[in-house]
Amino acid sequence: MQYPLTVRDFLDRAVQVYPDRVAVVDEPDQPGPSLGELDYRRVGELAAAQAARLDALGVPEGGRVAVVSQNAARLFTSFFGVSGWGRVLVPINFRLTRPEIEYIVGHSGASVVYADPSCTGVLDGLDVPHKFVLGDDDALYLPGVEPRPWSEPDESATATVNYTSGTTARPKGVQLTHRNLWLNATTFALHAGIGDRDVYLHTLPMFHANGWGMPYGVTGMGGRHIVLRQVDGAEILRRVERHGVTLMCAAPAVVNAVLDAAADWEGEIPGRDRVRVICAGAPPPTRTIERILEELGWEFIQIYGLTETSPLVTVNRHRSEWDGLAVGERARRLARAGVPALGVRVDLDVDGEVLTASNHNLAGYWEQPEETAKAQAGDWFHTGDGGYFDDEGYLVITDRKKDVIISGGENVSSIEVEDALTAHPGVREAAVIGTPDEKWGELVTGLVVADDGVTAEELIAHCRTRLAGYKCPKRVEFVESLPRTATGKLQKFRLREPYWAGKERRIN
Ligand code: AMP
Repeated sequence: MQYPLTVRDFLDRAVQVYPDRVAVVDEPDQPGPSLGELDYRRVGELAAAQAARLDALGVPEGGRVAVVSQNAARLFTSFFGVSGWGRVLVPINFRLTRPEIEYIVGHSGASVVYADPSCTGVLDGLDVPHKFVLGDDDALYLPGVEPRPWSEPDESATATVNYTSGTTARPKGVQLTHRNLWLNATTFALHAGIGDRDVYLHTLPMFHANGWGMPYGVTGMGGRHIVLRQVDGAEILRRVERHGVTLMCAAPAVVNAVLDAAADWEGEIPGRDRVRVICAGAPPPTRTIERILEELGWEFIQIYGLTETSPLVTVNRHRSEWDGLAVGERARRLARAGVPALGVRVDLDVDGEVLTASNHNLAGYWEQPEETAKAQAGDWFHTGDGGYFDDEGYLVITDRKKDVIISGGENVSSIEVEDALTAHPGVREAAVIGTPDEKWGELVTGLVVADDGVTAEELIAHCRTRLAGYKCPKRVEFVESLPRTATGKLQKFRLREPYWAGKERRIN
């Protein structure tokens, strides 16, 4: 007998085993009405009421439902209310501009779009049958009506499509199945040691690779979710104190914000010997890790992964062999991406590109069979990251072979920014590279050949009309020409070199 693994399992268990527990504490301060504290029984009711509403709207199984929202309890319940009844959730980065969102909605074929009250502007021009503002609960939920059961629950069915900027000018939709999400969430929970006493602070945007699967894993184990709408170092410390937080996931830029806030914090830093922080997106400097261990007294866990891998690929967590080591030595060991997670195979090709194979690698890129075939050639997923295994068998990521910049934990496609820059009439050529930056990890930097009189401010303002703020160049430099190969290909490594001289790795 084989039962399909579906995301409903996480919700159903929580509702059955922990109905009266506080499941979610919604952001108290938000533009719409906060849902306050919800127990798991209520989360189950809301998810069912959302599914019943989608039935009433005539959204079929497999139909796409997009959500544009900051972290919020209503986004959280959508992970179950949409996918749990066989529909496909498309979580969209709320920082994107209207044309970018329009593209994703159109490409995914979503027939329903929910938007946070602060993002209602994006709904205006959208050509979709059903548009709702989160918080308008009469439109979102149909309470008291039993939703139509998913006719044939199938673990190979697509549960979410997550758009991510990559190697193409437009973002690609990463198609993740129920099986992908189930196995990522449980494997991750095993490595992070998630249990029913965990209080999980949502410092990571839920739209980003489905919050790395934590909305599922923490729910299945009966943990508590604390919603955080906006990242702010001091506020993170206050929530850790107020809610007894034990776990969070964060890009290095978020960890830096917490460390900055800790320097001004009066009294004992909350969460000492209790909080574990899971970090990915970029390799955090050893010194940052050392400060987390020393100044915060929090456990530091590094993972490496991508949206395409749901995301878990490798894990680096303190192991018993390191118990007697000095803090600096422990930090140095934790600065590596890690060792393969359970059930994940990792290898390198001849050029040092990291390859992975696991049961939580993507099913494909939504309606892009050629891109899918390229990324999965030879039955390995090609990550586009470069690295090596050190003498202890730990993977170290040193380089990005794909043309992607990671700034503040979010992917930026260089090509997309180059397209925006060259759309300016005064720009003849543009190359976009990442340059190392203390705060953001990497800074989107445009190198531009332009007509006389064109200014950097003008070009940045021009990009802002087309791209989300975090994708726009923070720095623009004017050059006479751009180095190219004989076949006309831009030699980006030559452009990057002066900015990265003296650094061990070519990512930050
Ligand atoms: P995303 O799909 O937006 O989650 O971005 C995935 C990319 O983030 C990977 O391909 C890597 O380039 C980068 N990344 C994630 N985790 C790490 C890590 N621990 N060290 C270095 N780079 C990382």
